[in-house]
Amino acid sequence: MATASLDIAKRNPHAAPVAVSDAARLDGIEKVAEITAVAAAAAGRVSLVGLTRDELKAKLADIGVPERELKMRVGQLWHWISLRGATDFEAMTNVGKALRARLAEAFTLERPQVVSEQVSKDGTRKWLLRMPSTGPLDKGAEIECVYIPEVDRGTLCVSSQVGCTLTCSFCHTGTQRLVRNLTSQEIAAQLIVARDRIGDWPGHAAPQGAFVPNDGGRFISNVVFMGMGEPLYNIDNVVNAIGVMSDNEGLGLSRRRITVSTSGVVPQMARLGGEANSMLAISLHAVRDDLRNELVPLNKKYPLQDLLEACRTYPGVSNARRITFEYVMLKGVNDSDRDARELVRLLKGIPAKINLIPFNPWPGTKYECSDWDRIERFSEIVFRAGYASPVRTPRGRDILAACGQLKSETEKLRARTRLMLESGIGAEGVYALSDGEA
Ligand code: SAH
Ligand code: SF4
Repeated sequence: MATASLDIAKRNPHAAPVAVSDAARLDGIEKVAEITAVAAAAAGRVSLVGLTRDELKAKLADIGVPERELKMRVGQLWHWISLRGATDFEAMTNVGKALRARLAEAFTLERPQVVSEQVSKDGTRKWLLRMPSTGPLDKGAEIECVYIPEVDRGTLCVSSQVGCTLTCSFCHTGTQRLVRNLTSQEIAAQLIVARDRIGDWPGHAAPQGAFVPNDGGRFISNVVFMGMGEPLYNIDNVVNAIGVMSDNEGLGLSRRRITVSTSGVVPQMARLGGEANSMLAISLHAVRDDLRNELVPLNKKYPLQDLLEACRTYPGVSNARRITFEYVMLKGVNDSDRDARELVRLLKGIPAKINLIPFNPWPGTKYECSDWDRIERFSEIVFRAGYASPVRTPRGRDILAACGQLKSETEKLRARTRLMLESGIGAEGVYALSDGEA
């Protein structure tokens, strides 16, 4: 496919209309690739965008802001960065001129670089984002992030890791070896970039070509951790990022509109509920251990019985706060009437919603999506047992943005090199490398 090549003006997305050549408008897909955004000469300066309040406080202390002023200054910066979407310290009119200059000398308000933006014919947008390098051996990770506009909500699907250590057999991301965990700043910044790209800040005009809400969809009202990675293998950063995203004086998303999806990392589930207080989704996909071992190999470590027990005791679970069980429909594998009846039996007593996901194919997969009448029949059995059983409409399939299709080409380092690198330069987390149980 032909692609358009352009400069995104120095990471100031408000001022960065995305030009798309006519040749790129094929089949309703607009593809912007090879964007040669040159990183601003941020040598030595780090971005404050997406930091937690505590991190922000530490940064201000580093440049000599007196202890007695810290709380007030954090409040001011928080307002500009997380509520107003400021991209320039000069906009911060209630911060004195001298401090603004000091801030600009030491820090930036840069976002992760938007390497490409693809727009599906159904309005779904997928961004390939490049995170700045965390050290001399890290070239900067690339991850994908997807925005799905619907009439009653706008959902942003964020990534928590670059790739995934787990190897669920039906998932494209699972074929990419994990490169690293994302920091909480990198996770929260995905929401900030997405707001930039669709013009979702108070008082800011949408950039040219942005999706305009009321045109069949909403600004970002929900966040789901269903992009690349296993969020519960990066729980510290996920919990902190949820704190940033849900702060009432900033990005302001309700925790009830933030859903973390896990393949079943049982020991971390209670912590997620207790500390992040978010909604939970479980990638169930099979109702027997032998089949789940094959589809979701983590099941060998945390089998169905343990997983369902952790759901029963998930903090805050109730009929008003149900757990979503995701079930991917794989032709001839997990889609029989018997599977549907067993599913209902297994979930008895757990406040649950069941989400049937038509399998999204990707190059090289051995699976096929169940036929439509099979999915309907399955859904009918689940529905008759008293569960809402919506079939999730695949979104953004044409741009490989649907569930399980995400994969970036970030260079993969060998595990040992990575470990050395991370202990040496203190990059974030050493994720469950031995947990490739996978
Ligand atoms: N790692 C987490 C979250 C990311 S995956 C997890 O596994 O829950 C988000 C959802 O997409 C999961 O339910 C996952 O099982 C599902 N998924 C993965 N590959 C898919 C595919 N090819 N088609 C449909 N759903 C898929
Ligand atoms: Fe990782 Fe989730 Fe994909 Fe499994 S389904 S490989 S846990 S991203």
